[in-house]
Amino acid sequence: MTFEALKLTRQFLNAVEDAGYKEPTPIQSQAIPPLRSGQDVIGIAQTGTGKTAAFLLPLLQTLKYAQGDAPRALILAPTKELVLQIHHEAMKFAAYTDLRCIPLYGGIGHKSQLNAVKTGVDVLVATPGRFLEIYLRGGFEPKKIKHLVLDEADRMMDMGFMPQLRQIQEIIPSKRQNILFSATFPHRVERLADEFLLWPTRIEVSPESTPVETVEQLTMELPNQRTKLEYIEWLINDRLLDKRLLIFTRRKEDAESVARYLQRSFPFEVRSIHSNKGQNARINAMDDFRSGSVQVLVSTDIASRGIDVPETEMVINFSVPSDPLDYVHRIGRTGRAFRSGEAITLQDPSERYAMERIESLTGETVRKLEVPGHLTMHETPRNEKQLQARAIDREMRKRDPLYKGAFHERKKKSKKDIAKKKSAGKQR
Ligand code: AMP
Repeated sequence: MTFEALKLTRQFLNAVEDAGYKEPTPIQSQAIPPLRSGQDVIGIAQTGTGKTAAFLLPLLQTLKYAQGDAPRALILAPTKELVLQIHHEAMKFAAYTDLRCIPLYGGIGHKSQLNAVKTGVDVLVATPGRFLEIYLRGGFEPKKIKHLVLDEADRMMDMGFMPQLRQIQEIIPSKRQNILFSATFPHRVERLADEFLLWPTRIEVSPESTPVETVEQLTMELPNQRTKLEYIEWLINDRLLDKRLLIFTRRKEDAESVARYLQRSFPFEVRSIHSNKGQNARINAMDDFRSGSVQVLVSTDIASRGIDVPETEMVINFSVPSDPLDYVHRIGRTGRAFRSGEAITLQDPSERYAMERIESLTGETVRKLEVPGHLTMHETPRNEKQLQARAIDREMRKRDPLYKGAFHERKKKSKKDIAKKKSAGKQR
């Protein structure tokens, strides 16, 4: 299958060629024909499959060129990272047209977005809340919107966007093309599809729980964070010195300290992103990682769905995510469409259970790597040991509610100790 066979016009064939795409991915070859002919489509595809181009190319081709001031297409996405990502792709594909595409997202003042929209727009890419806000401030006339895309619909449902989506449905014309993309298709997404779509063609490429096939998954057992850090440092020195690397941590404090540690060890730029960072800092970090001026990005799960940098050589999980779906999304950041990637998950003794859950969800056994002989195994500090013991207790109790773990008992003892100490203090 070629892009020519999908009947893309010259402007878009050129843009696709500039992007370096040689052939359409399965979701693209299946979704582009019905979308071009104006049908409603449900696409079940995870990120990394080329789903964004699958809806953008036919949509932009239908819109053809800039027309009037009011938006004619609306793409809704759950997070600002994803909005920016889609906008970035849309600009790329619209390079040989004069189509105007504007991203709308929260977290920054509305003024600049409001002004931008007022100058005229063809495609809005927006989070639901900010779209409504700009509409209510009189930013645009919604009656020309004839195409609606709901991207990552499952995530929008998880984030409770249904009321906003219903409000949006009220203000845009009912006669329109609807496109819904989702990584999974649970009941609530099905209900959303029933409400929004008409006789949709359903296309499914691979179930959510299947990690992208081009990613080699590996894991290593290491006792604590300090040892994990030294392993990452060794790995970079060994074979990743000029490679783009994405590191995921569970907690934002860890994202900070991993980034700080690596920045001290290497001359290239390391940046961290998490929910405590300001909007601009997050966008800049993403842009700089994309352009290559930041070589290592350390992130919590906030960004696991928004980062799209095909050059990402490797994903390292500094900690195992507790939700197995986060794992699938994290490792999907490498091995993007036709490239191969590697994902190494570092697990301490308390993370074994989360790793087991991942393996049972994906139905795959992740290959265990031997710990390199020269790596120093550091003692686990007392507070980290306690955190691990507490996490193990939680896991054991999930399996057996009567389980009384090591940490539990210690905690009881220490309570008594505190009481003793208190009464001793009073007597004095
Ligand atoms: P998505 O699934 O939309 O998040 O896209 C995943 C990545 O694949 C992005 O980096 C796209 O630029 C890239 N991509 C999309 N379609 C193709 C294609 N036909 N050939 C090569 N890369 C592609």
